[in-house]
Amino acid sequence: MAASRRSVKEYLDTLDDAAWGASEVTPKFVSKSDPAAQWTGALKGHAFFAYAANYLIDLDHAIIIDVEASRAIRQAEVGAARTMIERAQDRFGLYPERLAADSAYGSAEMLAWLVHERGIEPHIPVFDNSQRQDGTFERAAFTCDHKELRQRQKACRMPRPLVDENGMMRYRASKLDCDGCSLKPRCFLIAPARKILRSIHEGARDMASDIATTEEC
Ligand code: SF4
Repeated sequence: MAASRRSVKEYLDTLDDAAWGASEVTPKFVSKSDPAAQWTGALKGHAFFAYAANYLIDLDHAIIIDVEASRAIRQAEVGAARTMIERAQDRFGLYPERLAADSAYGSAEMLAWLVHERGIEPHIPVFDNSQRQDGTFERAAFTCDHKELRQRQKACRMPRPLVDENGMMRYRASKLDCDGCSLKPRCFLIAPARKILRSIHEGARDMASDIATTEEC
């Protein structure tokens, strides 16, 4: 009896992992009969409980290499992509040079995993949310060590950044530097000094952006 109670608990734990493990966001609705199914409105019509079928396809030869079901939620689908890439290597010795996927796979962590851990070129659109509407310098105007601006404006220094719990590096210029800087009106309008946020995985994001802007893509 004790053994069967443990089995039931293990089974329920597994369901919990499948149902909530992929995302820290608690699902809005959970199916009582199938808690790992995801309540989704992805098809723009009525929402329903569903899973996602994820495919890994060899585009050169138009062959489906692998299929992995997951919850119909972005984090789980990204996890399925990793699983299939690893499995294709283990089972078939296939090692892709490039991965083409939609922007759902363009998180900084996923790009870093592809580039740094697997050596795979990410042909994945990357959204840049750093655009500024007030006409001041965008984040792209700053190199990560601020060297470019340091060359143009010797007073411009941004010390080693702090890294927050989301893996974002927070650069902050010195107010003293900014107050004496001729670029200040083009750099920021209200704050006491300019701040720049960059992901610790920004190098992989830059690589994906560069690939997306080459002619062949
Ligand atoms: S205003 Fe500040 S952050 Fe902007 S370029 Fe000048 S020193 Fe650098």
